[in-house]
Amino acid sequence: DEPPQAWLAGRALRDTARAPRAHAQHKGSYGDALVIGGAQGMHGAALLAARAALSAGAGRVYMSLLEGTLALDPTRPELMLRDALWRAGVERLSSATVLCGCGGGQAVAAALPLLLEQAVRLVLDADGLNAVAADPALAQALRARAGRNQATVLTPHPLEAARLLGCSAAQVQANRLAAAQRLADDLGAVVVLKGSGSVVAAPGALPYVNPTGNAALASPGTGDVLAGWLTGQWSTQAGTGALQALVAAGVQLHGAAADAHVLHGPLLALDLIDAMRRLA
Ligand code: AMP
Ligand code: MG
Repeated sequence: DEPPQAWLAGRALRDTARAPRAHAQHKGSYGDALVIGGAQGMHGAALLAARAALSAGAGRVYMSLLEGTLALDPTRPELMLRDALWRAGVERLSSATVLCGCGGGQAVAAALPLLLEQAVRLVLDADGLNAVAADPALAQALRARAGRNQATVLTPHPLEAARLLGCSAAQVQANRLAAAQRLADDLGAVVVLKGSGSVVAAPGALPYVNPTGNAALASPGTGDVLAGWLTGQWSTQAGTGALQALVAAGVQLHGAAADAHVLHGPLLALDLIDAMRRLA
């Protein structure tokens, strides 16, 4: 059987990402990524995503917290913490932005209108998705992005997908391909429906089912690592093409890192970042 097109394109993109860096390139050649997250008590999610974006190759990675402050990530001092960066200049960032671990509070809903309007490339995860599911005006603002050539990647797990679709998680799981495709077509975004056999769907395209990964990934923070990695990987790419393939390549790598790390227990999210970097 022929492998799906997205798989082949994803492999080609992964090989591009593996190519040696050209001699005279500088960090500006690899894009600026911004990770936004962090309700009180959930700063870890943003840190994991920002560290993953760094390991995926982004030239600069900024992190903004919606609640509370952090001046430094002591073991990853490469990260730049700028609490209100998303309020001024998000449209100038060459790369994607991600939302995760924001808590159910008002802060994320208040940040989203500006981000949906201005971010050229946006990855939404977790409470970023939950806020869209809770407010039809935000869903409409998300749909409007495609018409302005602003690309969006959504990374729901089955319950987050169910909230967006207005159905139950069991209904999503009963037909994962259809659920992912409906979300992609309705919201004009590339959608990763996570879980065993993650589905990567794009509007009007054939969906891709990822064969890698295992239950070692069923551990806290692995979803934040995926969102951050996709953001960082995206920031290194010029142009707008082949987004579904790029996302499929990241999802494949995330699972492959878990497969390379066979153990009878969880793969901790921080270790997953290193495993992905070794494999990339
Ligand atoms: P989240 O649900 O946001 O915590 O993300 C969990 C991540 O781990 C997603 O990328 C899932 O696809 C992945 N994952 C969790 N459990 C499994 C599993 N049993 N098999 C493959 N991937 C999994
Ligand atoms: Mg998650």
